[in-house]
Order: sequence, then structure tokens, then C-alpha cells
Amino acid sequence: MAAPNIKLHQYDLPAGVRFAGSVAIDTETMGLHPHRDRLCLVQLSQGDGSAHLVQFPTPRYDAPNLKALLADPQVVKLFHFARFDIAVLQHYLGVTTQPVYCTKIASRLVRTFTDKHGLKDLVKELLDVDLSKQQQSSDWGAPDLTQEQMRYAASDVLHLHALKARLDGMLDREGRSELARACFAFLPFRAALDLAGWPEEDIFAH
Ligand code: MN
Repeated sequence: MAAPNIKLHQYDLPAGVRFAGSVAIDTETMGLHPHRDRLCLVQLSQGDGSAHLVQFPTPRYDAPNLKALLADPQVVKLFHFARFDIAVLQHYLGVTTQPVYCTKIASRLVRTFTDKHGLKDLVKELLDVDLSKQQQSSDWGAPDLTQEQMRYAASDVLHLHALKARLDGMLDREGRSELARACFAFLPFRAALDLAGWPEEDIFAH
């Protein structure tokens, strides 16, 4: 399989990199607990088959260009399971990511016929693309990422634009676009609740 066009950077995006309208983003960390497991990599794609990887080989998070993009009100940030990435980006970069779109929330709102809302399942069903998850649990804090890690990391952002297009069509068809927008707008606050000590508890529950 041909490697997509992947550019690796360290500690920040280069000043000249611009994303118009929307950018797909994913993060890789040392694990699943934002307070314990540090941010190692941020992957970004315009949805054109190419990706930028911003690596943090050590815990030094001074990334003004990346932070400006995450907070830019003109650029929609597309994620799959945005809740986790937003919390990690908030904790390590000190920036609130918005506006956002989450393909997992969109899928949960319209694909009510299934409980399979993982990225691999979505990409297979909606785009007929097979995504490998082999490198998912590898050492993302390593100073030198392998070719396999970089390809895997990029593959997590290459399809989010196409997924959004499909899911937007379904949200419209089912009359749930407004509900989706409200959920996306709430996501930065859901992530804030995670970081503030309510990661499991549903404060809307009885
Ligand atoms: Mn990933």
C-alpha cells in the first residue's frame, strides 16, 4: 500500500501550514488517563489524502501555531470521539478546542440500528475502507516513531472529512442535525467535566 503524504514536525506546526474551513484531528497519548498519560502526537489533515504529524518527544508544550488553529473560530475541528482529544489538548496545551464536530456522536445519533461506532467500523461501513488498528497500543512517547506508527497515526485523520459528509446526509435525513450541533457545542464542556472530576458520572442522570 502506498504511504499517504505524511509530514512530521516537532513541538508545533510550521507557521506556513493553513487549513481552510475544517481540519481533521486526532491525538496519540501514553494511555487513556489525561492527567496521567501525556500527549505525544497530534495528527491533522485537510481531507485531501495528506497529513501533518506534530510530535512531542518530550513534555514541552509550547506550540503557538497549533494552539491558534485549535482555538480558531473559523476552522471546524473534526474528530472521532472528540471528548477525549479535547480533554487532552485542554490539559497539555491549555487551549479550548472549538468549534468541533465528532463523527462518533453523529454516528450514535443516526446509526441507531447498531452499537458499532468505532472508527474502523464506520470507515468500513460508510466508505468501504479497511483501517488497520495494529499500532493503536504502541509506545507513542518514543523519540523516533516507526514508519508503521506514522502511517497508522495519519490513517486516523485521513477519512474524517468523507465520514462527515456521509453522516451529515444521514443527520439531515433523520431530522437530527440541530441535536447534533447542540451536542458538538457541548463537547468542550463535557471534556472540562472529565478533567474536573466527573469522568464517569452522568450529571444529567436521576
Ligand atoms: Mn488515533
